[in-house]
Amino acid sequence: METTTVEKNNLMTSDKAIALEDRFGAHNYHPLPVVLSKGEGVFVWDVEGKRYYDFLSAYSAVNQGHCHPHIINAMIEQAKTLTLTSRAFYNDALGLYEKFVTEFFGYDKVLPMNSGAEGVETALKIVRKWGYEKKGIPTNQAKIIVCDDNFHGRTITIVSASNDPDSTHNFGPFTPGIVRIPYNDLDALAKALEDETVAGMMVEPIQGEAGVNVPSDGFLSGAYELCKKAGVLFVADEVQTGIARTGRLIACHHEEVKPDVLILGKAISGGVYPVSAVLADDAIMNVIKPGEHGSTFGGNPIACKVAVAALEVVRDEKLAERAQYLGEILREALRDIDSDMISLVRGKGLLNAIVITPKNGKEAWDVCLALKENGLLAKPTHQHIIRLAPPLVITEEQLMECVDIIRQTLAQFD
Ligand code: PLP
Repeated sequence: METTTVEKNNLMTSDKAIALEDRFGAHNYHPLPVVLSKGEGVFVWDVEGKRYYDFLSAYSAVNQGHCHPHIINAMIEQAKTLTLTSRAFYNDALGLYEKFVTEFFGYDKVLPMNSGAEGVETALKIVRKWGYEKKGIPTNQAKIIVCDDNFHGRTITIVSASNDPDSTHNFGPFTPGIVRIPYNDLDALAKALEDETVAGMMVEPIQGEAGVNVPSDGFLSGAYELCKKAGVLFVADEVQTGIARTGRLIACHHEEVKPDVLILGKAISGGVYPVSAVLADDAIMNVIKPGEHGSTFGGNPIACKVAVAALEVVRDEKLAERAQYLGEILREALRDIDSDMISLVRGKGLLNAIVITPKNGKEAWDVCLALKENGLLAKPTHQHIIRLAPPLVITEEQLMECVDIIRQTLAQFD
């Protein structure tokens, strides 16, 4: 478990950085106690200079690896030239990005936003408007179907769709017009679609935050077919699964589904800048007219240049193919680990999780702390699941080294 070091950052220590965040920052996260100050490719370094494999990739935003030079250069060049115009004026980067991203994913149009949650909000607005103006749903009666255990972000409307008490407790009243059904349940979907005021169904192709819940084969294509039959829009939230992470450009491609509305975020910028996007064809996107939706920063020149560069890396470095190949190897190697703490390994491409059986009172959090000591950063999602999602640029040799770290770490709990 060799770790290399970089020169010491004398200005800051881990203890000092943690104390500052604790004192001056809202306590809305519970981070692993590691303070990072540098990243390159699959590695990050803490302020004391210790090197780690990053097995979270900022929740799959850093698919292209930390500080990818092609993306960073695009950002620096644009930052020196023009950063923000707002959409009150045209700029010379937006149209080029819009052409690139729509051709890349095969849609007529894109609506650019910043965070994933804004992408989701945007999609919900498009779906409602389409429901009234194209499907003829009576005013203010449109419904959107979502799934149990979803995670689509943190706004009031989005948490209105959640059944996670952490997301909802004392945040009401909630936005109406949301119907929740069990995930991976086509019968429940068929029943919910009997309601003619349903405008759309929004789903994560794999539920990332819920613990990398992979639905049965045929769920996505079945859900898409049912939506088509009912005249309802099929909306894929691929903020986490999208852009090569699961071994396809988007996870819906595993079942040859082209969502009516596609939401992207995170890796569309390689983790360099907040960029999100909603894609749809004209018949849907054209329901949005001037003044009806927008964002000061959405579609700004830096975001546009960064997103083009990030997608070029995905294409040129064949990241989807890499994720598919390496994912098979990773799951097989993890399943070979002889530890009674691993009760299940699941995932697609390089979006994977191990389900931990607690041992002598030690849980997923304790395993993550021990992994950190051994040079690998991963984070539990819920109490007993550890997500394993390294940057897609990881080599096979590095991946095997990481499996060794995981094996040796679990052995420490014997
Ligand atoms: N949708 C999904 C599927 C996500 O996983 C996330 C974040 O983890 C979001 C939306 C929200 O993205 P953001 O945190 O950029 O608002």
